[in-house]
Amino acid sequence: MTVKSMNDLFLHTLKDIYYAEKQIYKNLPKMAKSAESQELKQAFEKHRDETEHQIERLETVFEQCGVAARAIRCEAMDGILAEAKEVMEEIEDGQVQDAGMLAAAQTVEHYEIARYGTLIAWADQLGMKDASKLLQQTLDEEKKTDQLLTKLAVANVNQAAA
Ligand code: FE
Ligand code: FE
Ligand code: FE
Repeated sequence: MTVKSMNDLFLHTLKDIYYAEKQIYKNLPKMAKSAESQELKQAFEKHRDETEHQIERLETVFEQCGVAARAIRCEAMDGILAEAKEVMEEIEDGQVQDAGMLAAAQTVEHYEIARYGTLIAWADQLGMKDASKLLQQTLDEEKKTDQLLTKLAVANVNQAAA
């Protein structure tokens, strides 16, 4: 990792979340397919469409920085998604599996919320107004998704599983 300046650190973290978003985009269809609750399935499908636009926003930010869009492996997201996979493979009861997948999805959102929050603060500090705005749009979507998942968990998924 060759990070010498705040600008390098911003770009490094941008590449980290770019990797994470791409992995999420790849994994959400499997989670939607496995979901028994129709509402949970729909939530995963909707967020996959949003994720596609989030990836495009990141590519725009790379462009604004004058660097090629490149992903750096994010061990944290690999780990979170490995845990989600374990839930799908090892929990046989569909409704309990839904509760586990929902929890894994919230873990994903919380990682993203942490990353985007940091990137926005750094973009603001570095005077990157356009990047900050784009990243804020995505942060708002991640927060909304997290809230929707909480609602689903409390309103039916946890109850169905218990
Ligand atoms: Fe995302
Ligand atoms: Fe990471
Ligand atoms: Fe997300």
